[in-house]
Amino acid sequence: MSYKLFIPGPIAVSEKTLRAMTRPMIGHRSTDFVALYQSVQPALQALFYTQDPVYLSTSSAWGVMEGALRNVCAKKVLCCMNGAFSDKWLDVAQRLGKSAGALKFDWGQPVDPAAVRAELVKGGYDAITVIHNETSTGTMSDLPAIMAVVREFPDVISIVDTVSSFSVLPIEKDELGIDVLLTGSQKALAMPPGLALFSVSAHARARAATLPDRGYYFDFLEFQRNHDNGMTPSTPVIPLIYALQSKLEDITAEGAEQRYTRHARLNRTVRDWGLAKGFKLFPAEAHGSLALNCFANTLNIDLPALNKILKAKHGLVIDGGYGKLRGKTFRISNMGDETDETIAALIKALDSALAETQVLSA
Ligand SMILES: *Cc1c(COP(=O)(O)O)cnc(C)c1O
Repeated sequence: MSYKLFIPGPIAVSEKTLRAMTRPMIGHRSTDFVALYQSVQPALQALFYTQDPVYLSTSSAWGVMEGALRNVCAKKVLCCMNGAFSDKWLDVAQRLGKSAGALKFDWGQPVDPAAVRAELVKGGYDAITVIHNETSTGTMSDLPAIMAVVREFPDVISIVDTVSSFSVLPIEKDELGIDVLLTGSQKALAMPPGLALFSVSAHARARAATLPDRGYYFDFLEFQRNHDNGMTPSTPVIPLIYALQSKLEDITAEGAEQRYTRHARLNRTVRDWGLAKGFKLFPAEAHGSLALNCFANTLNIDLPALNKILKAKHGLVIDGGYGKLRGKTFRISNMGDETDETIAALIKALDSALAETQVLSA
């Protein structure tokens, strides 16, 4: 059975992207691969707003999230936590044996730059993890304001997860002074999962050179050495790099600015629909994500039943809430290739399915 995903990752993948993945294999040390690898660099650097190389990791984003800590944190990392993914990062740091500080905000609240400063001035930190768009709660933090604070602490290497915001709005890595900027293939890039993309500042690479226990698979210096030859350290997921090449063509053809405008418009359309139905946005509206809407289930509808109807009758799937928010919130992605038409069709289906869905008694 086939259905279309409106969950916040993985999301729907176009026929064009899927077709790109079916090309015959090439050797990863061949000149054909070098040409493929080098062909994606200019468009990637433009989207990352960086002069630094963009590395391709055959892993999900968590590989690079964990690897970044191994590469840049020798003393102590400050983990900014305001949802499931950012909370998990503290756990990952601890599993690596890193000393880690927890800067916690309520779920649905953004990361507060003043609180970041108040913690960093205490000293002892040499790294910070920030998630730009906390996908579990649909909350977007003010990255420029956070980075303005982090730049006051030159010893603190910034690791910024833009997994669900990359290519939804401009994220200016060099301008903001982000040391490690990372994303994944299955969110707004609208590719299948399995490829992580990241760019590392010279400052972070210099730090990595001082750390002996970087491991191999995510060693930033191995990525740089191989990048210099147009390659990756180990055999990469070549079909996804073909998909990436195809997707970057799409983004260039549409224009990045148009892409950002489209995401903002479609996000607003879905938000207006939900608010008009009587739902509330889970985060404060000013901090609502542009990539998805996370609505509080203020009408107390039977979300599993709603999703069952959506899937069976309309061939669509939305998300019924992440982790401890299951049943209490629902999330609808507007990432990737959506258009006014596909969002209008989604809303029509949602209206129809909602009319058939029971309200749960309190
Ligand atoms: C999806 C997501 C991740 C995890 O990505 P994986 O590909 O599962 O490793 C991390 N951070 C954010 C913000 C996400 O949305």
